[in-house]
Parts: sequence; structure tokens; C-alpha cells
Amino acid sequence: MAEVRLVRVWKQFGDFTAVKDLTLEVKDGEFLVLLGPSGCGKTTTLRMIAGLEEPTKGQIYIDDKLVADPGKGIFVPPKERDVAMVFQSYALYPHMTVYDNIAFPLKLRKVPKQEIDKRVREVAEMLGLTEFLHRKPRELSGGQRQRVALGRAIVRRPKVFLMDEPLSNLDAKLRVKMRAELKKLQRQLGVTTIYVTHDQVEAMTMGDRIAVMNAGELQQIGTPEDVYERPANTFVAGFIGSPPTNFMDSSVVEDENGVWADFGEFRLKFLDDQAEVLREKNLVGKEVIFGIRPEDIYDALFAQVKIPGENMARAFVEIVENLGGEKIVHLSAGDINFTAKFPAESRVVEGQEIDVVFDMKKAHVFEKG
Ligand code: ADP
Ligand code: MG
Repeated sequence: MAEVRLVRVWKQFGDFTAVKDLTLEVKDGEFLVLLGPSGCGKTTTLRMIAGLEEPTKGQIYIDDKLVADPGKGIFVPPKERDVAMVFQSYALYPHMTVYDNIAFPLKLRKVPKQEIDKRVREVAEMLGLTEFLHRKPRELSGGQRQRVALGRAIVRRPKVFLMDEPLSNLDAKLRVKMRAELKKLQRQLGVTTIYVTHDQVEAMTMGDRIAVMNAGELQQIGTPEDVYERPANTFVAGFIGSPPTNFMDSSVVEDENGVWADFGEFRLKFLDDQAEVLREKNLVGKEVIFGIRPEDIYDALFAQVKIPGENMARAFVEIVENLGGEKIVHLSAGDINFTAKFPAESRVVEGQEIDVVFDMKKAHVFEKG
């Protein structure tokens, strides 16, 4: 078991900066998800931790041991780092049986045959692969193959698991099942895990904490609740959640009745503690970006909280998308557009005017950059 620590790590490929000044601490036994869009530097970060890539600057520690520091000429090769990496493509040996695929890393390390047999069977049992041990990879389903790849990582009992989008080649249904299985397995084993994905649902459901990256830079690190409820910036607010957070141009105004988000067409009253923060940040009188998630805008007919004139707006129903379990409703008020997520029972129809309630507890204000 181990902690992993990156201190001001940079990675350049020529002039291109793939990872920029990344500081990250992964706790012992933690499941940390690195989340971000394609090309943001997730794989590069993982490869630097594995020792497959050398940082340009900065330090990497595994369990308090400095494994990379170009400034000091320190670079510990992958096989001495005691980490196991699981890739998106399972990279199984096609000519070997499941048993031999799982046993392979132990054979390489010259583990005695009896010990190998014991550990392979243990891992196979854990992953539900016992009855497939004599099959070849081509005789397995995608999910079973992915489990063999996991088995090969687990059998070594490494200090750290590094997983690079390991579920992305599976179909949607299997992905959901494997998501839960993998999480359970990690809890059971208690091995520090860094898990890379561009899928925010995977990140939210699996991570003890999530590190959100964009364009090589860490945007925010926190629990799923932190990044969802308290996004640090518009990137995080827009990347996590579906449909995405509404961003609306607004100005913060104060009068004798309180502090308001003014949209021209209508205005919404901030709660007292929000008003306090806005005053402290000196945002009263400023143009800002107002953010609110579609699930935090309610059909007034169904809403619990009705405070007319303070958190309500009249809106025109442009489009209703019925997803069965819920309705995605595209609304407009003058030239302001926003999206709401209503329960399936909602009877809104396109072309109608309705009252919507903004759950101001859930509203975010971002400074204009
Ligand atoms: P992600 O895994 O988040 O999709 P990567 O870490 O694979 O992103 O890549 C980050 C950026 O670095 C991309 O723009 C990619 O093209 C670039 N990159 C990755 N590896 C190399 C390399 N060996 N040489 C040049 N550019 C690279
Ligand atoms: Mg990648």
C-alpha cells in the first residue's frame, strides 16, 4: 500500500505542454479519478507515475520514495516502482490461456510454481474466472477479457493500480456492471488506485475523490460532492453533470430588499449567505456568469418552494425532450435560454408559457475572466 505524490510536475513534448505544474496527493488506499476531456494530459500523467514517461520538471513520490526528479537526475524505472497498469486495450497474450495470462507477471518475477498456482486461483475466484482458466482470450466475452487484464494486475499485489480508461471498450450495460465490480474489488483490496476517465458518470460513481483536468492543468480536486455541488470554475461546472450546467450572463445588484441576480427579463434573489460572499468578493454591481444545473430549476406547479417574485421566472417552453424517466425542457425568457430537467409527471408542452422556480441554494456565481 502506498501514497502517491506529484509535486509541480510538468511534461513537455517539444514546445507543447501536455501537463502543466501538476501537484497531486493520492492517499493510501484511495480511489482517485483523473477526469477530463480527451487530450487534457490524463494518460501522460499516469505514464509518468508508472515510469513510462519522464517528467520535464517536478518530483514524483511513491510511498515517500522519490521515483522521478529530473532536477536531481533521479528516474526509477517502471519495474522497480511496484505499480500495475491496466489499459483500455486489454493487451492479453492471445496464444496463452487465461491461467497463463494471469500467471505471467509472477513467472517473470520467478515466483515459485506452487505460489503462482495459489495466487492465480485466488484471483480467478475473486473475479469469477475460475471456470474460464483454460480458455484462450478469443473464447471470452469483452467483460471477461477485461477481468483477465485486471487479474493480471491484481495477482502481483502491487502498491498502486494505474487504470487508463479500462472500461471504455465495453458496451454501455457491461460498463455499468463492471464499474460497480471494480469499485467493490478496489475496496476489498484496499490498494491505492489512480483511475483515468473522460466519463463524468464513472468519475462520480467510482471516485473517493476526483481530480478534474483541462488542457494539462488541474482545475479542482475534491470528493464527488465537492466538484458537483461546489465547482471551482465554469469548466468544472460545465464538465460534470448532464445536461450541462446553464451559464447565464447576469449582473449582481443590491437594493433595500437584498442582493439579486439581474437578467434584464427577470431577477432572482440570492440567499443571505450568498449575498454576504458576493459583497466580500466585491461582485455587487459587476457582470458575472450565473450557473445553475438543469435539475435545480423546477416546474413551479411541482416545486416545494414558492416565493413569487424572488426565485421565479416566466418562461416559454421551446422544446421538450422526453427521456421516459424525466423530461429535458429547453426554455427561454426574452433572449435568455436555459435548460431544465423536470420529472416525468410534468405535463409541460412546447409553445406553452410556464413559471419556473430557481433553487437559489444551488446557484453558482462565477467571475467573468
Ligand atoms: P488524454 O489521456 O487526457 O487524452 P494525453 O495525455 O494522451 O491525453 O495527451 C495529452 C496531450 O499530449 C495531447 O495533446 C497529445 O497529443 C500530447 N501527447 C501525448 N503524448 C505525446 C508524445 N509522445 N509526443 C507528442 N505529443 C504527445
Ligand atoms: Mg488517454
